[in-house]
Amino acid sequence: MSQHFLLSRAAKTLTLAQVMRISNEEAETMFARIRWPETDGEPVCPICGGTAVYNVRRPAGPARWRCKACVKEFTVTSGTLFAWNKMPVQTYLSAIAIFMNEVKGKNALALSRDLGTSYKTAFVLAHKIREALGSEMKGVHVGGEGETVEVDGVYVGGHIRPANLKENRRDRRLAQNQTGKRQVVVIARQRGGKTVPAVFKTEASSTGWLISRIAKGTHVVADEAASWNNLHTHYQVSRIDHGQAYSLDGVSSNQAESFFSRFRRGERGHFHHVSGPYLAAYARESAWREDNRRVSNGDQTQHTIKLALSNGPSVDFCGYWQRHKVGAGD
Ligand SMILES: [Zn+2]
Repeated sequence: MSQHFLLSRAAKTLTLAQVMRISNEEAETMFARIRWPETDGEPVCPICGGTAVYNVRRPAGPARWRCKACVKEFTVTSGTLFAWNKMPVQTYLSAIAIFMNEVKGKNALALSRDLGTSYKTAFVLAHKIREALGSEMKGVHVGGEGETVEVDGVYVGGHIRPANLKENRRDRRLAQNQTGKRQVVVIARQRGGKTVPAVFKTEASSTGWLISRIAKGTHVVADEAASWNNLHTHYQVSRIDHGQAYSLDGVSSNQAESFFSRFRRGERGHFHHVSGPYLAAYARESAWREDNRRVSNGDQTQHTIKLALSNGPSVDFCGYWQRHKVGAGD
């Protein structure tokens, strides 16, 4: 179904060829309109909110203003997720468009080739884009009266690499298979609604988070694992035995399966070892892509720019390479 949509005209409102033809000044104007819609793109000081500014662009430099009220200088990316980067705005636009066009996820090495930047630059850019997407899931609740939410988990990392899904399902909960590095991505996915993921050591330890994210009165669907037993005291829960069938008497967890299938494809195809601190970021990216799979890539790109410009400087990736030494593939 989603494949058909991707081939349709509606999904292709923005081509990379179009993005490559956009000049840096046009990209700056686009970002300004997205960041400051209330003034139709006229600069607003991020420090004091002043709109009276001097134009202080330097030769070959980015669009730059000085606030008449507080005398601070700023650019269209000052105070945002893209603050402190030295790249032209056109590069951010291209990075986001390329990231959005790659529906199964884009790895940093491929992104660096497309953009003509170093691997390090592409790595940080990709993570900032993920941070923008993930910011939309902060505090999001799913479910409610008359709504159904599917809950499921998938273990990632450690040395156990199950050969196939069936074996994975049988093995993943055995204690001896859970090394210290093993983590589990748990999701709560509302039918016809949003997906929220989080990362835990075990499925059972996700109960508190699930209760905080799933509204009272929700019909919860989960598999037969004992990890979910605690949910029965909070919700009406239907259980499905994956060993028997994926859909039984109308009770299924196909939506959760769809998320994990996307997540696994990304993990195998692009992210060589998705684990540790990046796992949550990749899980949120997969959830965002899943929830927005019917939104055209042009709208996805514009929305992601909006998210990046309405979030403060990256906590995790500001000065990242000064703090970490990470090889290609991380
Ligand atoms: Zn100001």
